[in-house]
Amino acid sequence: MTALPARRLRDLPSVDQILKTPLGSTAIQRFGRQVATAAVRAALAAAREACLGGAAVPQPGDVAADAVEQLKVAERPSLRPVFNLTGTVLHTNLGRASLAEEAVEAVRSAMCEAVALEFDLETGKRGERDDHLRSLVCELTGAEDATVVNNNAAAVLLVLNTLALGREAIVSRGELIEIGGSFRMPEIMARAGAKVVEVGTTNRTHPKDYVAAIGRETGLVLKVHTSNYRVEGFTAEVRARELASIAKAQGVPLVHDLGSGTLFDLAAYGLKHEPTVREAIADGADLVTFSGDKLLGGPQAGFIVGSKALLAAISRNPMKRALRVDKLRLAALEATLKLYRDPDRLAERLPTLRLLTRPSAEIATQAERLAPMVANALGEAFVVETVECRSQVGSGALPLETIPSAGLVVRVKSGGGKSLGALAAALRGLRVPVIGRIEGRALVFDLRCLEDEAGFCANLAGFDPGGADALV
Ligand SMILES: *Cc1c(COP(=O)(O)O)cnc(C)c1O
Repeated sequence: MTALPARRLRDLPSVDQILKTPLGSTAIQRFGRQVATAAVRAALAAAREACLGGAAVPQPGDVAADAVEQLKVAERPSLRPVFNLTGTVLHTNLGRASLAEEAVEAVRSAMCEAVALEFDLETGKRGERDDHLRSLVCELTGAEDATVVNNNAAAVLLVLNTLALGREAIVSRGELIEIGGSFRMPEIMARAGAKVVEVGTTNRTHPKDYVAAIGRETGLVLKVHTSNYRVEGFTAEVRARELASIAKAQGVPLVHDLGSGTLFDLAAYGLKHEPTVREAIADGADLVTFSGDKLLGGPQAGFIVGSKALLAAISRNPMKRALRVDKLRLAALEATLKLYRDPDRLAERLPTLRLLTRPSAEIATQAERLAPMVANALGEAFVVETVECRSQVGSGALPLETIPSAGLVVRVKSGGGKSLGALAAALRGLRVPVIGRIEGRALVFDLRCLEDEAGFCANLAGFDPGGADALV
């Protein structure tokens, strides 16, 4: 019994034989000799194991084909594009905002060429990174001055570290939020070197609470947009405008962390109002911080806008250098912000706004159109139907609001031997992974963010129903 597999092993092709097959030499050309050889060795080792288990001896071409499969999988980028059918337009785990064409073009040229990043083309002298965005941001927000850093978490950190290092930062207990696990306001405040002074209670904070807390050790008063949660019921908060006048009377700066922030009035597009940066400035905040890749619709970035004197102090903070953005993001931000100069075409050109404002009737028509194709691709074991559903903005903007949308709902046919979890996994395994959301015993595809319909269909044609077998 033992002699047989051993004799088989002797018949296995050599690494050299495998590399000399047509597939083997294609592999060398495409992936390089070193990597191709390593893949062939690995495929050969697997074949040896299989032979010991009683499998037939493979041909050299078969082993080469296995190696090429492995090489193709390894070559796929780790950061892969996906179809976001979750219904959350600004999905933090799926990269938030997609950039406008104009921004992509600007990044492309900044990527390939030298750019006048810190070089004043008029005087020929050294320029400042912030010069590229300052006047645009001020024009769009009504602020006196502006700077941009890595993200809004960095913006908050830098502001606190500049104005409240070793001093007190006053904040309402109702605004000590945690966002996405890794951003907890009290922790960021402490790491910035500020002494956190909590005022009020979880549900109610009054003007007198702030007044009583402000003293000689106060570096700043912080107001935070509670983003992904709301306190409902018996509540009281001190509005930004009133808080600004309290802070002003005591001679301390008010910093307003808007989170998403927005430069357009969502109400003008039929959505619920979300505070704009311009309003936060007009309400009297000395500094306002907000993200670049939430409702603004640009790349990851954090803006700090407001008083010239305070921004000068921020620019002198050596930490700013550690948090700065590169030329690619500056290019994307400049191009994105310029789109705001033409509000009439904004909803067409800025993907975030375009997706948020897609009419549900249009999405429903798309669902009708796609249902038969998706049913066909998924096969007999699943039922695919159109469905009305609700999308959300995501990233902490309008957390309680949902937007009427439409999509497809996929259920498992009983007795079909397939499971919903396995279906979701098989869809994630596609060339372009398709990410829906599981709701009860169904997989829902909200089609709000599906713009590349042809690409979606071509991609789904590669679906392997066998991959959705129940894991039992
Ligand atoms: C999202 C958010 C942040 C963090 O912003 P990032 O750009 O993700 O770093 C900070 N504060 C608030 C209120 C937020 O909503």
